[in-house]
Amino acid sequence: MPEPDLLPHATPPEVPPGTLPPPASADPGPASPFLPRLFPLQGSRVTVMGLGLFGGGVGVTRYLVRQGADVTVTDLRPEKDLAESLAALDGYPVRLRLGGHEESDFTSADLVVVNPAVPRASPLLAAALGAGVPLETEMNLFFKLCPAPILGVTGSNGKTTTTALVGSILQRTGRRTWVGGNIGRSLLDVVEQIHAEGIVVLELSSFQLEDLAGVRKSPHVAVVTNLTPNHLDRHGTMAAYEAAKKNIIAFQTADDHAVLNADDATVLAWEGECRGAVRSFTRKGGRPKDGAFLDRGDLCVARGGGEFRRVLPASELRIPGLFNVENALAALAASIPYDVPDATAAAALSAFRGVEHRLEFVREALGVRYFNDSIATNPESTLAALETLEGPIVLLAGGYDKKLPVDKLVEGVSRRARAAVLFGATAPDLEARLRALGGACAVVRASSLAEAVDQARGIAVPGDIVLLSPAFASFDMFRNFAERGTQFKRLVNALPAEAETPRGADAGRSV
Ligand code: ADP
Repeated sequence: MPEPDLLPHATPPEVPPGTLPPPASADPGPASPFLPRLFPLQGSRVTVMGLGLFGGGVGVTRYLVRQGADVTVTDLRPEKDLAESLAALDGYPVRLRLGGHEESDFTSADLVVVNPAVPRASPLLAAALGAGVPLETEMNLFFKLCPAPILGVTGSNGKTTTTALVGSILQRTGRRTWVGGNIGRSLLDVVEQIHAEGIVVLELSSFQLEDLAGVRKSPHVAVVTNLTPNHLDRHGTMAAYEAAKKNIIAFQTADDHAVLNADDATVLAWEGECRGAVRSFTRKGGRPKDGAFLDRGDLCVARGGGEFRRVLPASELRIPGLFNVENALAALAASIPYDVPDATAAAALSAFRGVEHRLEFVREALGVRYFNDSIATNPESTLAALETLEGPIVLLAGGYDKKLPVDKLVEGVSRRARAAVLFGATAPDLEARLRALGGACAVVRASSLAEAVDQARGIAVPGDIVLLSPAFASFDMFRNFAERGTQFKRLVNALPAEAETPRGADAGRSV
């Protein structure tokens, strides 16, 4: 899931650190607070705790309304912070309790649907349970309802990309494929259309997996990209985080499949606990008996017995970075159980431009490649993008000031970018800091994104990359990062493909 473009008034934690619940385990038994069976919704009073901005809250609310439930939606954030999600509920008869919670919404409900980001130690959840009110989650409900086999993807990094890659491979097979989950789309919106012959591809976060223990279900095909320390504020320890993730295989049967990263010792060690077929993928060396690997620059698939087939040269992937080679290998290995023809997988992988707004390849014009990384709303994301892309970079950056430290960003931009085109509220400060460093990076200012694209086009020469990776939130000029990225793509797609004189490469060199 993309790094959230958090609103300035992010939901504060409801419990002080240190009061975390006991760690999840692969076999939580009766400890899970979540309802194992379907709850009759018609006429029931249901409280949705945490509408959020990533689709889950909206999806479950709409489903509940369709089922005839009497729904209250409550969120700590005020209405203005939830504008997009609320717009998606337009016309749905729901009661809204925003900017805070009311305990009676929890104790007098028939069912409480909990957002995966809500801390398990929330006193309101305890109050609901204390009043005998069962708890549900959007993803648990989907697992109970979904008639199609599910392919689930988790990991610390690369979940969204791998999910989208597998989805695009399977969508070309002729079997109806639905892609959703933590990627930002609730499949509860379409669950009535999903049929047993279709395929469901879900991105699953550690929070969603932790809760999945309540229904004691794992996906039919489980893909684990990697495991590094993450979300320890919520999970408490690395062991608890790993245990939550492990629910992706914990309830599998002998008919299921696991796809593990052979380059990640922690993930590979799960092999012994998998009940079904195990496949692996590796970028770094070796050839798995069954799985995907890199050989002399080609993405290859091995299907047991020492035989292997070359599917695609890695150089034909449009998504940049070695980690995306890993994600493509994970996707290839994950598609093995579906017997996808190599040509189909190759066509899907080479056509994939990336997840929208995340180092998304937009186009090449006049020898300059344009990338949209509007999702980068903090310095770390932009620094990662600068390190990932190879070649001279003209960076478009700046935006809403969240008062984050920018020293490392400025140093990284100065070292890595050929030029920086700065816009938005933070532009003056960034400009002053870059100039003070006195490096080789040219610095210009733009008053709008259109002007920034225009400036970048003037500066870039063939072989350069123009990268929108703002490092700041978008609220000073846009509704959100998606609007910023969409506008960038529209501007870039409108650039002429042919050189116009006198404007062109030379004009930029004087900057
Ligand atoms: P997630 O959904 O797990 O957050 P994404 O696919 O959205 O992952 O990628 C987010 C960022 O994580 C990328 O921009 C890149 O910096 C990094 N990343 C992606 N895939 C991998 C990987 N396989 N290994 C390490 N880092 C990765």
